Amino acid sequence: TAEVHLSGQTRILTVSNQKGGVGKTTTAVNIAASLASVGARVLVIDLDPQGNASTALGVPHSADTPSVYDVLIDDFPLADIIQVSPESPNLLCAPSTIHLAGAEIELVSQVAREHRLKTALEDYLDAVEERLDFVIIDCPPSLGLLTINAFTAADEVMIPIQCEYYALEGLSQLLGSVRMIQKHLNPQLHVSTILLTMYDGRTRLAQQVAEEVRSHFAEQVLHTVIPRSVRVSEAPSFGQTVIAYDGHSAGAVAYREAAVEIIQRGDTNNSEGTP
Ligand code: ADP
Ligand code: MG
Repeated sequence: TAEVHLSGQTRILTVSNQKGGVGKTTTAVNIAASLASVGARVLVIDLDPQGNASTALGVPHSADTPSVYDVLIDDFPLADIIQVSPESPNLLCAPSTIHLAGAEIELVSQVAREHRLKTALEDYLDAVEERLDFVIIDCPPSLGLLTINAFTAADEVMIPIQCEYYALEGLSQLLGSVRMIQKHLNPQLHVSTILLTMYDGRTRLAQQVAEEVRSHFAEQVLHTVIPRSVRVSEAPSFGQTVIAYDGHSAGAVAYREAAVEIIQRGDTNNSEGTP
């Protein structure tokens, strides 16, 4: 692994894309595990009621587990719900439970409904003994109040793009949402990182999608692409990230390279705003 120097700042990234099944959760957990494997201290916040990120990190999240739901709705401190992934002492997870599905509606009537995650995270980061290097938030596909809470709490948006037909569909809508959040809720928010996933270099289509995305977002697209790999898709059923499940597989190697790139580039602080 290349030598990495952590910035000393806590970088907060939300993994977003309004399409489902494009690799958001896979990217959130595998980037997080990769960052932890090179010495970063990382918290994954699972904001998707499906709880796939919690599963992949090997963290219990049955209905009676204290979860992000309790933080958003009942003002639990984040510290009270965070669990350590069995994969690494550096890898923490704020789990989701099925109750979170109701939070989307329940939040509507709450005070400061867009800021609840941000406030909880700030309180946690202020009080925590060991500083975190990264917070990675896994979002549901919809642009509801859960995703808006993530956008309000984060500085950076990371967008996984599946190298397939219609990959760019919905992207302008996502960028529009980011601009709206910038304007009304969080001026810091910007798209810092785009990661091409499920790449099959043998197909002309994948190459074309990759070229098109790179031509539009030269600054943000990581050099590393994540290949389509069975090992990546198998890992969650063992309650593991691919980093722990098969660290030598092509998918694991690519995720580690992408994580090192994320550290080395720093936050490409795009003060001009999002393209
Ligand atoms: P999202 O969170 O955007 O809905 P997921 O991360 O759950 O997407 O991924 C959707 C599906 O694609 C899952 O079954 C996952 O295992 C699979 N997948 C994701 N990335 C890869 C990859 N690089 N190679 C093979 N399968 C992948
Ligand atoms: Mg997901």
